[in-house]
Amino acid sequence: MKAGLLFAPQRIEIKEIAAPRVNADEVMIQPLCAGVCGSDVSLYAGHRTPPAYPLLLGHEVVGRVSELGKDVTQFSDGQRVVVEPNYPCGVCAFCRAGRGNICPDKKSPGVTVPGCFAEMFSAPAEFVWAVPDAISDTDAVTLEPLAVSLHALWQSGAQIGDTIAVLGCGATGLLLIHAAVMQGVRVFAFDKLPEKMEFARRLGADVVQSDDIEKLWRDENVSTIFECAGVPATVELALSAAPRGSQVILMGLATRPASFVPLRLVRGEIRVSGSIIYNHPSDFARAIALVARGVLHPSQVITDTLPFVSIDRALELASTGQSGKVLLQM
Ligand SMILES: [Zn+2]
Ligand SMILES: [Zn+2]
Repeated sequence: MKAGLLFAPQRIEIKEIAAPRVNADEVMIQPLCAGVCGSDVSLYAGHRTPPAYPLLLGHEVVGRVSELGKDVTQFSDGQRVVVEPNYPCGVCAFCRAGRGNICPDKKSPGVTVPGCFAEMFSAPAEFVWAVPDAISDTDAVTLEPLAVSLHALWQSGAQIGDTIAVLGCGATGLLLIHAAVMQGVRVFAFDKLPEKMEFARRLGADVVQSDDIEKLWRDENVSTIFECAGVPATVELALSAAPRGSQVILMGLATRPASFVPLRLVRGEIRVSGSIIYNHPSDFARAIALVARGVLHPSQVITDTLPFVSIDRALELASTGQSGKVLLQM
């Protein structure tokens, strides 16, 4: 089969490799389309080093079932499915406490096991979800990043009538804005690029230019700030401007240190936490239900669709930070 292999930072090529084998508990999937994620970009850009090169990237996928492992009975040939692409070990203390999203031994396609930027992709049936007919291919392929944003939104406890702020309007930030707005939460969105701000505004966010963010957030009773840009400057902005009694949820994948004044957080009882992926299996189930019912349309954040043969261009485009979600037509 053809597969998009990362040989070194900024060097991805389509090569012919052996198709994966489908184990007894696995499903073989023929991808229809695949999304390029921030984590694919950080591997491509060399901000993160994979366990080994070459690496078969990709984890956001909708496809059709093409083969079933002998123990798999819940799917049928040709059925449309998506994959929840993090496989917690199920036995460590975190997994047993229902926190598989922080399992240190979880397997992640496109990072620790082969990914989906290929003609065939096999995944454990436990992490494969049937896609209801009501969900389009493009909404289906954006279910995974939607689940990431929903997990953080649920973690914040934001309710109808509350006000939040989102820093960074890439796919994660935009999906968070969309989900928050649709549940009656007011959102202030920030991004350094005017086109991204315009995108956020179209999704229903308030886009306000202000020289005094701290005052704006205080005056508007912002209760949670979501940091989705993943750079030290926005982490520092969130921590230096968060209002008294608010919380900061970090979602961006900043790898360099950021600084803050502890006294400010102590005096204002400002809580800071991280949010990573989703709880298995509850978050995916709820994300699928919300999209199937027509409440959310995550495909709105797709800005570019490229053919699989242009995988290098797709990753290059996604790493400029100027696009929303970039899709590969497989
Ligand atoms: Zn992703
Ligand atoms: Zn575990």
